[in-house]
Amino acid sequence: MSELKLLSVVSEIYPLVKTGGLADVAGALPAALKAQGVAVRTLVPGYPAVMAALGAREEAFYFDHLFGAPARLYAATAAGLDLFVIDAPHLYDRPGGPYTGTDGRDYVDNAQRFAALGAVASGIGLGLVPGFVPDVVHAHDWQAGLAPAYLHYASGRRPGTVMSIHNIAFQGQFPASVAPLLGLPAHAFSMGGIEYYGTVGYLKAGLQLADRITTVSPGYAAEILQPEAGMGLEGLLNQRRGVLSGILNGLDAAAWDPAADSLLPSPFDAKRLDARAANKAALQARFGLPQEPDTLLFGVVSRLSWQKGLDLLMDGLGTLIDIGAQLVVLGSGDPQLTERYAGSARVNPGRVGVQFGYDEELAHLIQAGSDALLVPSRFEPCGLTQLAALRYGALPVVARVGGLADTVIDVNEMARASGVGTGVQFSPVTVPALQNALTRTHALWQDKTLWRTLQRNAMATDVSWDRAARAYAELFRNLARERAA
Ligand code: ADP
Repeated sequence: MSELKLLSVVSEIYPLVKTGGLADVAGALPAALKAQGVAVRTLVPGYPAVMAALGAREEAFYFDHLFGAPARLYAATAAGLDLFVIDAPHLYDRPGGPYTGTDGRDYVDNAQRFAALGAVASGIGLGLVPGFVPDVVHAHDWQAGLAPAYLHYASGRRPGTVMSIHNIAFQGQFPASVAPLLGLPAHAFSMGGIEYYGTVGYLKAGLQLADRITTVSPGYAAEILQPEAGMGLEGLLNQRRGVLSGILNGLDAAAWDPAADSLLPSPFDAKRLDARAANKAALQARFGLPQEPDTLLFGVVSRLSWQKGLDLLMDGLGTLIDIGAQLVVLGSGDPQLTERYAGSARVNPGRVGVQFGYDEELAHLIQAGSDALLVPSRFEPCGLTQLAALRYGALPVVARVGGLADTVIDVNEMARASGVGTGVQFSPVTVPALQNALTRTHALWQDKTLWRTLQRNAMATDVSWDRAARAYAELFRNLARERAA
């Protein structure tokens, strides 16, 4: 098997910079792909956190002019990742997040910031760095969406291109006035190119012009062909469904290993489930809840947003209280939802505990200490929290959508009879259905032997990256072969 060279293009990567699951995927795939004979280099913007983390670095190219000022491209390593980093202080050296400033608003020049990412990716694809000429360029989400477009409109031999959708809700849409700034031919601003309902669409461009399209679960791949989930792109996706596929994400097995998790008071595994109890007690103490081993404890680790359906949990909280359960929530995001959750903790002391902000250690403790993890998402491309929950024996209670439906086996009568259930699914994504799921979970909780079986089933689920990496590697190889022919 000859080695395939892959350029991964992404706007965030764990552990350097992360706002969501995208970073986890970008950070974990390179190692998993390496085992499949794919050599990955990842192109990322040189945000302050990235520049600070670089180990040995080498200038790979100098740009006299990259969207407004000179810039450098470095080949570097950081946190075990092989990177190309765009050192363009005028675009990336600012306080705040990767997409928004300290005021929480999108940067006004995001169109230029991520056009630069796409343009540099295209340059590397065309041989800018002689030591690494990729066979395939893999663009993640709208921020990398112009990479396939630049390559499409370039002349000469180009690598294969793959556009991956991690969340179709984020589309990177900019006013038409951006089009002339991009350095693409004028005819690129058309329906068959980067134009999107009269605007410039970065994700649309990638979906239109990449050789292949993937998304992060088979379920979501089917859903985005429908208007409810396609969010305006369903027409294009239906035209291109022949090159669209869904590949389920895995979980970083080293970062999420209950038997060797240094963030836990009491590491455990499927054979030592008793050791889990100390984590539950620590979690209850952390949130000021009574340390009752027999009380069913639900956990939430999530962005607080409409997508995640956490308003439904607030609306249905009465049921959780009525069945005598406890709830701990770690989340950040929407200020109104934050206020509602803070209020529910005030009204239900000893029953509901909340913490706002981003906290990796607490996320691990919630997975290890809660009995069930709630994920009532309205839509979920793949979802990583339920994968961690499976691995940590917190039974996922999930909406039957997208990747949640693909990864959790509902404990219905059939699943119970054949001993394969791993969690609870509910549908439709409504308050009554969620309440019903809470009640069902509570009924399962009464049978401690059954609960243990379900926990062991959950923990035995293959959530590794190997499976996903095999599927990606096959797709990349087929594409590279096709381009070579
Ligand atoms: P999304 O990418 O839509 O936010 P995912 O479930 O795919 O959702 O990925 C979320 C990732 O972020 C998981 O690794 C989860 O553990 C983590 N996470 C989400 N919210 C928090 C938080 N408040 N603190 C720590 N980790 C969080």
